[in-house]
Amino acid sequence: MPVPGRPPRRPTVVCRTGPHASPADELAAVTGAGLLGVLRALSHDRIRPCASPTCDGMCVGTGKAGRRRYCTPALCGNRLDAAAHRARQGAVSG
Ligand SMILES: [Zn+2]
Repeated sequence: MPVPGRPPRRPTVVCRTGPHASPADELAAVTGAGLLGVLRALSHDRIRPCASPTCDGMCVGTGKAGRRRYCTPALCGNRLDAAAHRARQGAVSG
């Protein structure tokens, strides 16, 4: 039941694996539960492929606007910015 003045409680995802689960199975279960949490808290349209044409990564727009474009902005975003800069320089110098 909502308490006035407090943010609404969100259900907790409990993820249990078997007693003999391998570390890979444990990791897969935790990762899957995390993805379910992202889908529940945000929406599926915030999960998208990285905008870099040379990257196969995915990104999640977790900001208010949810417009993140690159999986790793410092890498993929800078790579595209550098390519655009080189293209502009080539167009200017002939
Ligand atoms: Zn990327």
